Amino acid sequence: MLPSINLIARTISFPSLGNVDAVVNPDKNIRNARIVEYPKQALYFIASFIALVSLCHFFSLGYRYATRNRFSDVQRRDRILLSRLPIALVDTLRALFFRQTIPIGSSFTLNLAELCLILGYLGVLFSWTFVNSTSTTGLRADPQYYADRAGRIAASQLPVVIALGMRNNIISWFTGVSFDKLNNLHRISVRILCILIWIHGGGRVRPSYMYGLTQWLHCGPVAGSALSLLVILTIRPVRQRNYELFLLVHFVLVLYFIGVRRLPLFIHKVRRVPYYGWPSMVMSGLERLLRLIRLVVYNFSYFNPFGSNDTKSQDATVDVLTESVLRVTIHRPSHFHWRSGQSVYLSFPSVNTYPLQAHPFTIATIDEADEGSFAEKRLIFIFRVRNGFTKNLMHVASPDATYRVFINGPYSSPPLLVGYNTVLLIAGGTGITFTLPLFLNLISRAKRDERPCQKVLFVWAIRRAEHICWIEDILMPALIGIPSSTEVAVKIYVTKSEKDSEKEESSVEELDPNDSSRSQRIGRVVDSEYVSFTSGRPDLQDMNQREIEKASGRMSINACGPHGLGNTVRKAVRTPRLMDILRGGPTINLHIEKFGSVSIWIWDGNQELTLQLVVNTRWGV
Ligand SMILES: Cc1cc2nc3c(=O)[nH]c(=O)nc-3n(C[C@H](O)[C@H](O)[C@H](O)COP(=O)(O)OP(=O)(O)OC[C@H]3O[C@@H](n4cnc5c(N)ncnc54)[C@H](O)[C@@H]3O)c2cc1C
Repeated sequence: MLPSINLIARTISFPSLGNVDAVVNPDKNIRNARIVEYPKQALYFIASFIALVSLCHFFSLGYRYATRNRFSDVQRRDRILLSRLPIALVDTLRALFFRQTIPIGSSFTLNLAELCLILGYLGVLFSWTFVNSTSTTGLRADPQYYADRAGRIAASQLPVVIALGMRNNIISWFTGVSFDKLNNLHRISVRILCILIWIHGGGRVRPSYMYGLTQWLHCGPVAGSALSLLVILTIRPVRQRNYELFLLVHFVLVLYFIGVRRLPLFIHKVRRVPYYGWPSMVMSGLERLLRLIRLVVYNFSYFNPFGSNDTKSQDATVDVLTESVLRVTIHRPSHFHWRSGQSVYLSFPSVNTYPLQAHPFTIATIDEADEGSFAEKRLIFIFRVRNGFTKNLMHVASPDATYRVFINGPYSSPPLLVGYNTVLLIAGGTGITFTLPLFLNLISRAKRDERPCQKVLFVWAIRRAEHICWIEDILMPALIGIPSSTEVAVKIYVTKSEKDSEKEESSVEELDPNDSSRSQRIGRVVDSEYVSFTSGRPDLQDMNQREIEKASGRMSINACGPHGLGNTVRKAVRTPRLMDILRGGPTINLHIEKFGSVSIWIWDGNQELTLQLVVNTRWGV
């Protein structure tokens, strides 16, 4: 027996073979050594993966900045250009991994990259949990080996899981993946952690009976149950029944799980592996501190005790645009800066149901708005009214009132539109709040002679022509003085026919009968040489195909709006085009922005239905 123990001990460089305990129970020391080493190795592996993605991100950013003014003039030809093989391969991989989706249930889809990421994460954690778990007596998958290791590996992942769920997200800063998309991974990783915790618990049942239940053994099932309850609450239909309540319960359960002093996990295990528990708590604390600092800095007029009496200077006004759309305007603090397409969390204390309630909304204006323009000193938001806070705001909205509002941000990682020959911006309804700032930014750079792209096509599908007034004040000034070096087209599709509009129970007319200037304002947009109005739904598949056929170099397609719109755009570009790119066709970067829960327009049917549906957010590639 002893020679084989010696062999194992040598293999893992175990230093204390002389220990009597090791001779009596040779497995114990081997197990303990692996319990310390394997979680670290799993953590290093995950950290290396994040570092690799970050490197790719920075390399891609650097490359695009370096080549931002070099527009490709390669034209399509019959001959294959082998020099284009690397970019053609990258584009093909993008099409396969990010644009092919797999339906999970009736309302949830994953793309191939997400699926690989989840399976990869599961594979890594499970491999390190179960590898080398045969005891010296030959018992395979010995619970004494894997059970504690599973618990320790779960604990080691806490910093990663918590980092994925943050708003001020360090992983997002490095990888360029938006915080709301990382939030999906946060939820999935918590579920995987929960499985590990129960593997740990299951493996500890027998020893607990044999050696009796100590205090910390009692705490294990309690901490595991808290985590399991949390996992159940994160299931989409449950979570979305009352999002605010979910956040509150989530906070309490996480505190309970991770370890306020004397609470379960702390007593049970984190106390024994402090190097995993404390970093999570410190990170979480720092993130909240950063939120607080931002809150004070960007809302200083509300906090400043020595400021002028005019604390209303930052208050919001709320305009009811339709029965389900609001426009919120806030005077921007002069020191608040953001990137086009970023979002902020807004909190309206007088409308909130819960204290500290805040909701994310995308800023429809840009930081570098033209001097003297309507948008220059304003943060403008377009809200789709849903069932919670937005509904309450709709009920209290009055043209004469102003509302105290706290802004916190900016957050999210919108695409950087640098170095593209052609940019397509496609929005449906309130999705305009994401594509409009991207468009304004391109135009503003074009006016500054930065030549951001050769062509920009801005497509917006709206129910009624009057909806153009949602953004007209912001859009019109931008359309003046565009240099001829940038080709610009704004295509507005009005999807409801006159007949349909008459049937509507509530319309813009009914909401604001005195607005006599509306028709004039629509007229102003029509007058612009860049704008065209079309009746009916856009054929996005066909439009994308035609633009791809005309384009060369790099092309960026960005879409935001109903679920069906995103799917149609994705469908149009999901077939790999290796040969086309080798012959000079454009490479494509696709970004689909979704706002968590959306209304669907069924684009392909005869009738346009609106359903409330739950979807996942996705990566932009
Ligand atoms: C980065 C980002 C940018 C967004 N930008 C816009 C925008 O410009 N215009 C717009 O109309 N909507 C936007 N949304 C969606 C918007 O945040 C939600 O519609 C809004 O919070 C719903 O509030 P409610 O209480 O009325 O919703 P409820 O009816 O209570 O819930 C509807 C759904 O909204 C989501 N939601 C609710 N509260 C939150 C929250 N605090 N954080 C995240 N999601 C929440 C949940 O998925 C929920 O199921 C954005 C979302 C994100 C993540």
